[in-house]
Amino acid sequence: MGGGRWNNDRDGGRTNSEIDWTIPTSRDERLEVELFGNGNTGINFSKYEDIPVEATGDNIPPHITSFDEVKLTEIIKNSITLAGYDKPTPVQKYAIPIIIGRRDVMACAQTGSGKTAAFLVPILNQIYESGPRPPPANISGKRKHFPLGLVLAPTRELATQIYDEARKFAYRSRMRPAVVYGGSNIVDQMRELDRGCHLLVATPGRLVDMLGRGKIGLHNCRYLVLDEADRMLDMGFEPQIRRIVQEDTMPPTGERQTLMFSATFPKEIQILARDFLSNYIFLAVGRVGSTSENIFQKIVWVEEHDKRSYLLDLLQASNFSDPSAESLTLVFVETKKGADMLEEYLHQMGYPVTSIHGDRTQREREEALRRFRAGKAPILVATAVAARGLDIPHVKHVINFDLPGDVEEYVHRIGRTGRMGNLGLATSFFNSKNINLVRDLVSLLVEANQELPPWLDDMFSEARYSGGGSRRAGSTKGRFSGGFGARDYRQTPSSGSARNNGSSNRPGSYGGNYGNYGGNYNSSSYNSANNVSSNDPDWWDK
Ligand code: AMP
Repeated sequence: MGGGRWNNDRDGGRTNSEIDWTIPTSRDERLEVELFGNGNTGINFSKYEDIPVEATGDNIPPHITSFDEVKLTEIIKNSITLAGYDKPTPVQKYAIPIIIGRRDVMACAQTGSGKTAAFLVPILNQIYESGPRPPPANISGKRKHFPLGLVLAPTRELATQIYDEARKFAYRSRMRPAVVYGGSNIVDQMRELDRGCHLLVATPGRLVDMLGRGKIGLHNCRYLVLDEADRMLDMGFEPQIRRIVQEDTMPPTGERQTLMFSATFPKEIQILARDFLSNYIFLAVGRVGSTSENIFQKIVWVEEHDKRSYLLDLLQASNFSDPSAESLTLVFVETKKGADMLEEYLHQMGYPVTSIHGDRTQREREEALRRFRAGKAPILVATAVAARGLDIPHVKHVINFDLPGDVEEYVHRIGRTGRMGNLGLATSFFNSKNINLVRDLVSLLVEANQELPPWLDDMFSEARYSGGGSRRAGSTKGRFSGGFGARDYRQTPSSGSARNNGSSNRPGSYGGNYGNYGGNYNSSSYNSANNVSSNDPDWWDK
């Protein structure tokens, strides 16, 4: 088995090697209620179905439209039914057959798209089919664990969510998921690992620590997932990720299966893909909300000194006294100090508010989130980094009290509402500090069929004719055309040979500029990307 108890873990007198992992263990009604008791997620599939998915690469397996179209073990099928997943979400329709077909994947999909099950279902299904593996020969260490699969995620919150979803698909199986993250007692976590660790969900820093202590060995790790890869790099985890994937004992690229999920594809991410993935299929999943228009995006001009009173007006309109109104409101601010001050202010004004930011202890963040989710403090003031990766199903309103510096972050933030097809509202306070966003914001709003305030339209025209207003001087439509956050950089418009090598479902619609390398990367695998005209703006050059 993946854990260290290979030799003494017996089941009915047989060693683990003889046990068929595809056979479900007996029911546990208490656990069933714990794992699935919350019932259905309330997805509005009629809206959700419209989200386009584009797959590019060699020999792409056909996508499915129902879970019945792929051969899944009884354990997985049972969990899908118990979870109330009647049909696959768009990313699942494509990713599940591709991953079951043992291909590597680089996917542009966000939290809220069903991406967690999109990788867990096929990975765990394969783990059940191939069964446990013995620990590597000549390795001592009684309590060292050898997981069969590893999921890396940037934050404790996201790691915990993935772990919770993994527990659902582990129900009635012999597979044990485990989770480790920073900011919590490592000894407790090591003890928890001793209960079994076949699928490990980890934040990079804590895993490096565990590897250093000899608690985990990656020799048997045949499945690697990097979730929210862009955010992991933003948070400075690249050295740890490389240490884990390249400098330990993990099977090399090609031998293991590697899946990378990222909302954006800056060049650093594409370099990771080059280094970690083998002949991968690129999946671009339309942004939840922007293409299906299920987020009403309002941009209002508010001077700095008017922001607080404008916010009070907005909050006034929400019915916070009725918890069933599901009026959870997420307010984004730029700085930790700003978060503290705004929380204090709203509190003084009598609003049920809480906040999270990077200076809060783990316990404080957890408590704030718990109160928010439960509707006890239905207003959460957050900095973007602290809020990243949270799964909050019914945020009614996202308010950008401070707009972020780039439109990718804007997309991330508004994605907290209108989740899984539910209608959401996003209001952003705009003033002269945010001029740099005009061009990208307008192209995003136009694409999502949102109404532009006349002053924004004017600013956009001015920026266009003067050539200013944005670091990007290219076409306004290109980047977001089709509602995708990114496209396969191997298929850039000017890359000729690479362009039509796959079976893209939507050929001819490439308007963006992806992977325009700044000339620093001379590897031959970058030839096609390097062919991008040097006059093109570098979308990713921040
Ligand atoms: P994720 O994008 O993985 O964070 O998933 C968002 C939410 O959708 C989670 O609460 C999942 O439990 C739920 N979900 C995932 N797949 C499905 C599905 N096929 N049907 C219904 N709900 C789903």
